[in-house]
Amino acid sequence: NIDMNSYDVAVIGSGPGGYVAAIRCAQLGMKTAIIEKYSTLGGTCLNVGCIPSKALLDSSHHFEDAVKHFDTHGIELPGDVKVNLEKMIARKQAVVDQTTGGIDFLMKKNNIDVYQGLGSFKDARHINIAGEETIEIEAKHTIIATGSKPSSLPFINIDKERIITSTEALKLKEIPKHLVVIGGGVIGLELGQVYRRLGAEVTVVEYMDRIIPTMDAGLSKELNKVFKKAKFKMNVSHKVKSVERVGDEVIIKADNKKGEEVEIKGDYCLVSVGRRPYTDGLNSEAAGVKLNDRGQVEVNDHLQTSASNIYAIGDVIKGAMLAHKAEEEGVFVAETIAGQKPHIDYNLIPGVVYTWPEVASVGKSEEQLKEAGVAYKSGSFPMRALGRSRASMDIDGFVKILADKTTDEILGVHMIGARAADMIAEAVVAMEFRASAEDVSRMSHAHPTYTEAIKEAALAATEDRALHI
Ligand code: FAD
Repeated sequence: NIDMNSYDVAVIGSGPGGYVAAIRCAQLGMKTAIIEKYSTLGGTCLNVGCIPSKALLDSSHHFEDAVKHFDTHGIELPGDVKVNLEKMIARKQAVVDQTTGGIDFLMKKNNIDVYQGLGSFKDARHINIAGEETIEIEAKHTIIATGSKPSSLPFINIDKERIITSTEALKLKEIPKHLVVIGGGVIGLELGQVYRRLGAEVTVVEYMDRIIPTMDAGLSKELNKVFKKAKFKMNVSHKVKSVERVGDEVIIKADNKKGEEVEIKGDYCLVSVGRRPYTDGLNSEAAGVKLNDRGQVEVNDHLQTSASNIYAIGDVIKGAMLAHKAEEEGVFVAETIAGQKPHIDYNLIPGVVYTWPEVASVGKSEEQLKEAGVAYKSGSFPMRALGRSRASMDIDGFVKILADKTTDEILGVHMIGARAADMIAEAVVAMEFRASAEDVSRMSHAHPTYTEAIKEAALAATEDRALHI
């Protein structure tokens, strides 16, 4: 039935980009369909990304507290604290199931038709969906939100047992004795910390000269310090040359800074060297949708592809591979299709690492300001000087505010510390309203909270007049 299967908008992919785009389209009165090849909605983020990794970070954090910190707090346990990994992974899965189920509910609530199956273009207006049976739908507009998949290095054979990606690391059957993490970016460090807390020896091997290399260097330095204290083995400036599995062992060979070969043996190797845009099976060429040489769907400033009725959002296009970036783009495209004139300020999309301490940034880093020749001033405040930090014994980290030297406008905020992932929202709001450092320094921050470090850093940036240091 042509009418039944004809839509104003079809969204391909149900990750945070796709499902948010679908909801916004439906809110704006468009007849909307969403196509997902997996059996559950929610994409990478909800199924094998943001949510399960945070669930395991939380569980492992509780375990570490019980082992290391309960005694200090005067909490005595009757016996040894042990990990039941199976149960921990099952709880993670329960969280995932509940969250993906929530998306089913949202689709129903908004009258969005959900199709399960691989969507591929027949032409710019028709999409074939290969599910239990193949059906065809017609769409005036299509939003490509097909996301990304873990990438690897050409010489690595991911066997998904011992040489694994983040997807397998979220459902291991045993705690590794020695986990070697290739790639010191967000995903590698988060999952590395999960297994370190559970007792694995963890070695990080990073090609660049610092971990989290895209963030402000001060944050890398502090996180590196904390990780070293937790007995992670950190190998930066190491170029991995080979990864071989021999029985239950994985042997990694890398060249260090001096060009000497280093051999690292572990029982598991997590390859977390980034993610690649995913367009397999989409048949984009049939619709006249061009990809660039990095495999991303090419889009203009309106996120419109080379086919004028087709848009693309999220990990499959350029820019930060983050769930909240994909969501903003989902809303942006829905509103664009509806004839509105939305706006995204990409400079104000925060970046977060959910290790503990958490790391969060928004705006420009010192490196970027120096490169652009911007005259700026910097104010920092250490978490250890806060009463709140001492009460919880979370004393690592700092907040740093970078402001324009003449106008005092905040240009970047970089923080590492307890709950930085939540605190960064204050910086986003301030910068969205183009606040000066002095504006923030004159706002009351509840005492005792970690956010007082933001006020103090703002005071430090204003006239070097922090109060508590
Ligand atoms: P995706 O979430 O990748 O969704 C794409 C969907 O499209 C998938 O479900 C896929 O099956 C489907 N699909 C693809 N092709 C087709 C087709 N042809 N037909 C039908 N369906 C198709 N980001 C954060 O912001 N915060 C975090 O804490 C965070 N943690 C992460 C942790 C891990 C371990 C990983 C791997 C990623 C993490 N990310 C995090 C990144 C985040 O998951 C992605 O940025 C986000 O999921 C991108 O959303 P998306 O909608 O573009 O695509």
